[in-house]
Amino acid sequence: DIDMLNVCAVEVAAAGTARVLPLTPGLDDALFEHDGQITKREVRALTLSALAPRRGELLWDIGAGSGSIGIEWMLADPSLQAIAIEAAPERAARIRHNAAQFGVPGLSVVEGNAPGALAGLPTPDAIFIGGGGSEDGVFDAAVAALKPGGRMVANAVTTEMEAVLLAAQAKLGGTLVRIDIARAAPVGTMTGWRPAMPVTQWSWVK
Ligand code: SAH
Repeated sequence: DIDMLNVCAVEVAAAGTARVLPLTPGLDDALFEHDGQITKREVRALTLSALAPRRGELLWDIGAGSGSIGIEWMLADPSLQAIAIEAAPERAARIRHNAAQFGVPGLSVVEGNAPGALAGLPTPDAIFIGGGGSEDGVFDAAVAALKPGGRMVANAVTTEMEAVLLAAQAKLGGTLVRIDIARAAPVGTMTGWRPAMPVTQWSWVK
């Protein structure tokens, strides 16, 4: 294994060959170890664009899953910091593994349930909610913790979470975007569009 800490722009493929990583967010899903719970490439690129990292900022990635959002945030610039909050222990371990593989071992991982796990963390400049946002108190705790002038982005795949975001937009303002992606895939001997589940994305400046 090549020491990833010293070659942050390089990814070690399964075959042991090294490839140069692109600088833009929206890296191939396959570069991350994941169990299917991952913000897909195209949606991730739009999410990082909405999160709009600026030099020196701190991100909270709530419901971090594979850690892909926090990792791409940190890859954008060495001055950036991120805290991944993840309830499932095996996923928290995977986030640490992915962070090491991508050469961003400085990604902090908090293993625990939001909102409880958010208590006492340093004030974030930006927050992403990728999971747990429809659970009691999570959304409100994130809004309260965000630095004034900070940015919050939340993605919904479920109608429960979408309801939270529609209510948030009615109360706080911000922008709603619906992301519908379809990929071409085999249909028998032909090809057809396989739609992914639509994602509702809310972006807001506090
Ligand atoms: N953005 C992630 C995918 C998130 S999937 C990625 O790209 O990999 C949603 C995640 O939220 C799951 O891993 C789930 O375990 C986590 N989660 C759900 N409720 C949570 C809560 N209350 N606190 C912390 N994590 C939570």
